[in-house]
Amino acid sequence: MPEATEELFREDAYLRETTARVVEVGDAGVVLDRTVFYPMAGGQPGDRGELRLGDGTLVPVVDTRTDEAGQIVHIVAPEAPRPVAGDEVTAAIDWARRYRLMRVHSCLHLLCRAVDEPVTGGQIGEDRGRLDFALTGEVPAKEVLTERLAGWIAQDLSISHRWVEAAELDANPELVRTMSVKPPRTGGKVRLVEIEGVDLQACGGTHVARTGEIGRVEVVKSESKGKQNRRFTVALAAD
Ligand SMILES: [Zn+2]
Repeated sequence: MPEATEELFREDAYLRETTARVVEVGDAGVVLDRTVFYPMAGGQPGDRGELRLGDGTLVPVVDTRTDEAGQIVHIVAPEAPRPVAGDEVTAAIDWARRYRLMRVHSCLHLLCRAVDEPVTGGQIGEDRGRLDFALTGEVPAKEVLTERLAGWIAQDLSISHRWVEAAELDANPELVRTMSVKPPRTGGKVRLVEIEGVDLQACGGTHVARTGEIGRVEVVKSESKGKQNRRFTVALAAD
């Protein structure tokens, strides 16, 4: 069983790069001993960026995934140059893209609370994100939701995380908001993400530190997706 990649992004989502050692190079890509690259999970896309080799060669990373063994693979194009195991490299994410994903992701936590019904699925993009809710009551108007989000964003609330034993999560199933997404368990622990006074839920993704960083957003779409299933899409305002 290979040793799991050290996941630096879980403790500090603002890390843009790190030095690391190459553990393995396969057809799909490169495994490092530690990384700042977020692997696709929980509706959040995998990071893109580059690996800088000791001789200055740049290896573009087009996506990041977790393989069947639980290792984080930095996906590189077939024709791209590759490092070899043992090399020391610098792994750097496309920060502008990741920061937008962090803003959208954090906003979806607020949307989750604004609607306050069970979430059945979701998707995070660079300029917009969506959540599906099992909605039994009245459908809230887009304008009302936009206003609720704007209120919390204007308050510039802190967003923090802490690790708890998985058993604590099992005893408090309401902390798992998205029925279709199981939060990752690292060494028997799960990560809780709290937006000061608004929301608390298990989540392994990357978030901004304060709601003010999300900026201006608008709930742009409200769609019926089957019986009792309602999809809301929220978009970041153009810069
Ligand atoms: Zn999250």
